[in-house]
Amino acid sequence: MSAEPFVLQDALDLDARDELAHFSARFELADDLVYLDGNSLGALPRATPARIVEVVRAEWGDDLISSWNKHGWISLPMRVGAKLARLLGAYPDEVIAADSTTVNLFKIVSAAVVLRPGRTIIVSEQRNFGTDLYVVEGLARLLGGKHELRLVNGAAGVAAALAEAGPRVAALVLTHVCYRTGRMLDMAGLTRLAHQQGALAVWDLAHSAGAVPVDLNAAGADFAVGCGYKFLNGGPGAPAFLFAARRHLEAPESARCALQGWLGHARPFAFETAYEAAPGVRRFQVGTPPILSLAALEVGVDIALEAPMEAVRAKSLALGELLIRLIGERCPADHGLQLVSPRDTAQRGSQLCFSHPEAYGIVQALIARRVVGDFRAPNILRLGLTPLYTRFRHMWAAAEALAAVLRDDELQRPEYRTRAAVT
Ligand SMILES: *Cc1c(COP(=O)(O)O)cnc(C)c1O
Repeated sequence: MSAEPFVLQDALDLDARDELAHFSARFELADDLVYLDGNSLGALPRATPARIVEVVRAEWGDDLISSWNKHGWISLPMRVGAKLARLLGAYPDEVIAADSTTVNLFKIVSAAVVLRPGRTIIVSEQRNFGTDLYVVEGLARLLGGKHELRLVNGAAGVAAALAEAGPRVAALVLTHVCYRTGRMLDMAGLTRLAHQQGALAVWDLAHSAGAVPVDLNAAGADFAVGCGYKFLNGGPGAPAFLFAARRHLEAPESARCALQGWLGHARPFAFETAYEAAPGVRRFQVGTPPILSLAALEVGVDIALEAPMEAVRAKSLALGELLIRLIGERCPADHGLQLVSPRDTAQRGSQLCFSHPEAYGIVQALIARRVVGDFRAPNILRLGLTPLYTRFRHMWAAAEALAAVLRDDELQRPEYRTRAAVT
């Protein structure tokens, strides 16, 4: 790129050359909207409403209970799981779509701890997402209080904690891409360090699946979970996914699901008195799957599978680099925004986060200008980059809106200072 300042036409040229550009027509998004929150709630695929109507009217309405067989409802969690596996570097029989990320975390962390009897330390990051820490803490309480959640920060902190706790570590529980900074951890390297101590590695892929290259088996990961409603565009509260490596689905390392439900039984319709876990990852299914939500998720996953991940990653990084450049070129010199995402693209997921003392107000003022990002307490402005529908011209518009907001004193308006229930 030349030393000339970047102009709007440059962004339009990049959009014209973008090999993923055609994907944006697959989503319902107003033309004037700059939606940079697809990492929190992905956009609605245009095909989803018709698919939901079909499932409701033709499958539920007309075929009623026969749909469990006739329309394959009973195998939908495994079918969607097998598709997700292709985005995750997993085998089709290692992934199931089910429940929420939080519930799945409980299932896999408890399974990991049971696989490492006598070991009582679980290592995680202090700045991990709340739910991950709450689940481990609640599990430790349930197990009688002899387990300890040891919290550190950064790859160096994790390495030191693992080395220090050695044979007492049961599991390492980490989020691959940090929700608050966009920092991406080295999954293979940290998994190796956990394994060197005989511990299991559990990964939360909430901000990774569909957004960055993930290769769970190449990294040697033991268990993983992730969200369906973020980069996978499955809709609000979409089912999450759960990954268990094949070696943990076979004797002698056979993992158990603590939530033993009938649909995780080897033969659910035999209605046996004694529980026997299903042979594969299906043992991590608990109860009746939410068919409407799974049908919506499948539409989102199908679109994600059409896009080559190398192109998605390259565009995500190009969008991010452009936004950083435009903020530097177009915002007032004293803008006060500090990039908290790693400057090194190799360590960055698909979002840019900036700290600013007025971050909450900035987010509200941007939304009023049709640029939707989000705020994360206490002072983070978070802009998600979703290469399937984020355009280069959106980076231009976002930088222009930011520049205007930071130049004017609209941040002082009372409506930008009162926090809503969901931020
Ligand atoms: C979004 C997110 C979750 C969400 O969990 P739910 O059970 O779907 O509410 C979990 N972990 C991380 C790291 C997240 O970013």
